[in-house]
Amino acid sequence: MNSEFDVELIDIAPTIANILKITMPEPTGKINSALSNYAQKNKVKKVIVVIVDSLGYSLYNHLEHNMPTLSCLASKGFFYKCKSPATTTTPSIASILTGYYPSEHQINFTKDIIIERKKTLSSLKTKSILEWGHQSGIASSLIIEAEGAKAMEGLIDNAIGIPDSKDILEFDAMTKKLSIKEILRGTTLIVLHLRSIDRYAHRSNTWIDIIKAGKSIDTNVHDLLKHLDSNTLIFICGDHTIHSAEKWLINATEDEKTSHIQNNVALIVCSTDEFLNKG
Ligand SMILES: [Zn+2]
Repeated sequence: MNSEFDVELIDIAPTIANILKITMPEPTGKINSALSNYAQKNKVKKVIVVIVDSLGYSLYNHLEHNMPTLSCLASKGFFYKCKSPATTTTPSIASILTGYYPSEHQINFTKDIIIERKKTLSSLKTKSILEWGHQSGIASSLIIEAEGAKAMEGLIDNAIGIPDSKDILEFDAMTKKLSIKEILRGTTLIVLHLRSIDRYAHRSNTWIDIIKAGKSIDTNVHDLLKHLDSNTLIFICGDHTIHSAEKWLINATEDEKTSHIQNNVALIVCSTDEFLNKG
């Protein structure tokens, strides 16, 4: 199902709040009513958000044939060209989790979470959907690199840090493994971050590695799906378009170049029931 209406990463937090009945002040992002109605129809009780680092809209279209699970989720659920408000990871993930633009939440580096918290005026805008969830009695967990997890320690039910690894596929596999543990604990709201495409974008020069990373991410999502309860809504989104673009846009079309410059990322949303029931 393709949807043309304007969707932004900052819409994810208020949409999840609406679906899981989490109390939070209305942020700048808007509730996506199509997703909210869809969640209601599918009796959604739990949400998992998989942030796929560097999964731009054009990149996803390019890799789609190597990502059968994501492609299946996109065809059975929703697939959006989604606007990202930042070209780097930390402010973008902060926007996904807070529902505010970087100019509002002011989180450009992980340490800013702690600095910005001390300013009363902007502190509400730094508070993530996981914290609002935790405060509303909804078990909320984050599985992310160690520094990011440390900043969230004590603020949510479980902030799980993954130590950095030379082997980024190992890092993602560990993230998946610990996310499955959270799923099995019955956690209502889970957010995790898979990093392999981004790492290869920086360090490699060959599409073979980007495709390898894409396939590995698809396998990780497939493994998560095996453990998810029915009535779970899965969000899969990029945080920004690909870094070191000069290497990757050499043979790109004009449309792909435009989408890159506009910083459009892929957003796929599907309920586990829809994923399992229709073939
Ligand atoms: Zn990133």
